[in-house]
Amino acid sequence: MDNWKKLSFLPQKELREGQNNKLRSFITAQLYPFSPYYRKLFDQHKIKPQYIKTVKDLKLIPFTKKEDFLPDDEHPNRFRDFILQPDESSIKKYQPKSKLIYLALLKISKGKEEVRERLSKEYRPIFLTATTGTTYEPVSFLYTRFDINNLHISGYRLLDVFGVQKDSRGVNLFPYAPHLAFWQTVFAAFAHNVFMLSTGGGKVMGTQGNIEAILKVKPDIVIGVPGYLYHLLRSARQMNKNLSFIKKIILGASAVPSGFKEKLSSMLVEMGAKGVQVIGTYGFTEAKCAWGECPTDIGVSSGYHTYPDKEIFEVIDPATGEVQGEGKDGELVYTSIDSRGSCVLRYRTGDLVKGGITYAPCPYCKRTVARISSGIYRASNIKNLQLSKVKGTLVNLNNFGAILEAEKGIEEWQIELRKKDNDPYEVDELLLYLSLSANTDQENLKKRLCDKILSLTEITPNEIIILSHQEMLKQVEMEISHKVKRFVDKRPV
Ligand SMILES: [Zn+2]
Repeated sequence: MDNWKKLSFLPQKELREGQNNKLRSFITAQLYPFSPYYRKLFDQHKIKPQYIKTVKDLKLIPFTKKEDFLPDDEHPNRFRDFILQPDESSIKKYQPKSKLIYLALLKISKGKEEVRERLSKEYRPIFLTATTGTTYEPVSFLYTRFDINNLHISGYRLLDVFGVQKDSRGVNLFPYAPHLAFWQTVFAAFAHNVFMLSTGGGKVMGTQGNIEAILKVKPDIVIGVPGYLYHLLRSARQMNKNLSFIKKIILGASAVPSGFKEKLSSMLVEMGAKGVQVIGTYGFTEAKCAWGECPTDIGVSSGYHTYPDKEIFEVIDPATGEVQGEGKDGELVYTSIDSRGSCVLRYRTGDLVKGGITYAPCPYCKRTVARISSGIYRASNIKNLQLSKVKGTLVNLNNFGAILEAEKGIEEWQIELRKKDNDPYEVDELLLYLSLSANTDQENLKKRLCDKILSLTEITPNEIIILSHQEMLKQVEMEISHKVKRFVDKRPV
């Protein structure tokens, strides 16, 4: 069903040529004719679809930002403008190619009704996933049958990159919700023809229920959100369970802090597992698919293997918008070249990537597709803190995550930003909530942590608050939330 096995090893030049061809035909035959948003954008900026011939020409097109999807009073349904909406007149008017197809269809079919039916199979939205809305209101992204087929294809490719065997069994712990992670995993198992139990996560079955399900299925692959997987494995360890059958842990839907994979794998070793691989994935609602790392030793990452026939990634300087060269840091920008339903072009993900994109063959699996460095973190976690009354300081909270994950005695953590005395005119304060493993020397740890944080981030937490394990699970909303709440900003907007 898919040419991935061949495609993923093609020489870079051939991949680029294929990508340019696909970009050209996608813009002239799909996006410009059928997307209300992009047709208007192109017209406003006097961009003719024919101007976009290669990946390099993308820079002529303005970026699409998260804000562009958000409703306002005048446009309550802005997300709809991103959906491809062909009708008889746009088919005939905008492009000779689809007009020819339309006329040919009309000739061989019994009439307009059948043509409509065929078009609806390609273009009628039948499924959606939505953004989780941590920073903004949730936005819906729609899929047609064409996109559902693509979700199968990306699912197949993901499991192929992970090196999953035909006789594998998996347990999917992503929360059951209209979110990409859950559904990408479900479709991946269908496409790869492997058994997968999707439990719906902690909210549906509870941690105890999930552990029991894992002990029954004895999966070699377990897939879920990093924070919840950690919580579940730690609970299993407390119950002295044997999880020696687990071979691969796949993490998704949330950034993987450095040091986290090591922490997870050493916990699994304690429960009898040998040679466990911990593999990261990257995906977002707007792309309607996810990308994966290939297996490596713990401590190194291969980067996320992309699909050259489905999308184009650029890395830009987030301040100037200028496209960066290979391997350079910056913000990831995504362009779809093979979708229906909701489609985005030059979409600014808000994700910053350290090490950018590499086009060299993967040193581990030898695939030649472009790889996004695994060092991805959310731009929204970079906060401007008013630590003194004099001036603001930019602080990257992602760095805190890496420090806290690497600390052995810390089981759960949360960072809270608030105003001193809840006074909106006061300075900002940074609080650190922690729960610790038994036998951890609290005072010693607090001091060591403050020193480490100060030396790496140049600031000191105003307070470190130690909570019990139960209190902490509530604080981070471990079992009820889609994402474990690590960063809470309580300052007034
Ligand atoms: Zn690889």
